[in-house]
Parts: sequence; structure tokens; C-alpha cells
Amino acid sequence: MSKLVILGTAHGSNVAGKCSPDKRFREYQYSREICNMLHAELTARGIKCTVDITADGEPSLAYRTNIVNKIVEANGGPSNCIYVSIHVNAAGSDGKWHNAGGWCAFTTVGTTKADALAECLYESARVCLAPYADIMEREKKHGTYSPAQRPFRIDKTDGDCDLEANFWVLRKTTCPAVLTENLFQDNTRDVAFLTSDEGKAAIVKLHADGITKYLAP
Ligand SMILES: [Zn+2]
Repeated sequence: MSKLVILGTAHGSNVAGKCSPDKRFREYQYSREICNMLHAELTARGIKCTVDITADGEPSLAYRTNIVNKIVEANGGPSNCIYVSIHVNAAGSDGKWHNAGGWCAFTTVGTTKADALAECLYESARVCLAPYADIMEREKKHGTYSPAQRPFRIDKTDGDCDLEANFWVLRKTTCPAVLTENLFQDNTRDVAFLTSDEGKAAIVKLHADGITKYLAP
């Protein structure tokens, strides 16, 4: 049985917050759009994939991971599936624009099978988001990004790049799971990049290339 990639959409239209300060960018919507594009790209590459929740709502996180784990059981079990949850970060929940930016991926705490997948995603992010890294460097002098911002947020203390957090969708999913935070929905320049055709293509390609590399025999 060939491996199955399960794409995880972020939140739901019923979840409060999770949008840009001007409310034009909605994380649930963007994530669903990227998941659909990525589903098409992976399918075109001959990789078997599915999206966990395509409807606009999300009854609960437990409902979501229950769906994911049922898909895993129906597709050869945890060693035959991977889960990639696609989110957009936020620096604050105060309804204001901020000057944080950057891309990162999370796995659960400790060394797990998800670490190798996260490393593949970081590698492809560095390539696919190179134009974004240039934008960030240029925009720092205008204050769009604070001097401390990095295009790729990493934590090397445990030997790999990924950040670690026991997010529900990572902790409760039975197969290796990574959650990507694709730039910031409360940074004006990040939102401009994310919603551009070039930005969407870069976000899709970084996931497709990272997943392809991880699945390569
Ligand atoms: Zn999120």
C-alpha cells in the first residue's frame, strides 16, 4: 500500500480570531485554499493524499483528530501515513498589526518520526521562500519587520531545526505529524506575500517538495 499524505486544514470559520486585523485574511480559508492546491500538486506527482476537513467549520479539535486517526487506520496504520497541518502564525491577539514574520514547522516534544519530515520541509522552505527572505531583509529598514526577525525560525538545541510544542493535532494524531506556520497573518507584508500568486505557489511548492523528498525511497 503506498503511503498516504493527510493534509490538515487550520481551524474553522466558527473559531474566533485567526484573521488579519482588517479581517480580510482568514486563516481557515487560506489554509483550505492551500490544502486544495497542494492536494492537486501531490496528486499530479503521483502521491496519494487527502484533506482532513474541507468544510468551513471545525466542530472541535477532538473531532478533527478522530477523523485523521480513522483515515490512518483505513490506510495501513501510523507507519503508512503522514499528517501535515497547515497554519498561519500570529504575533498578537490584540487585533493590531505587528512586525513579526517568518516561516516555521512544529513537531511534538522529543525525538519522533516527524522530525525527519520537518527537516525535509525546512530544506525546501529555504529554497522556495528565498524571495520572501529577500523581502524581509529589505523591509526591515522600513520597520515592517523588527531587526530580530528571521525568515526561518529554528531551534537547534535538540539537533534539528523544528520548533517543538504539544499542539493537540500533533499530540493526538497516531501517525508522524508536522504543523507548519506559514508566515504571519498580522504582518502587512506577510499577508501581501501570502495572498499573491507567487506567494501561494511558493507555499504550495515548499510543502510538495518537502513531502516528496521525505517519501522518496
Ligand atoms: Zn492556526
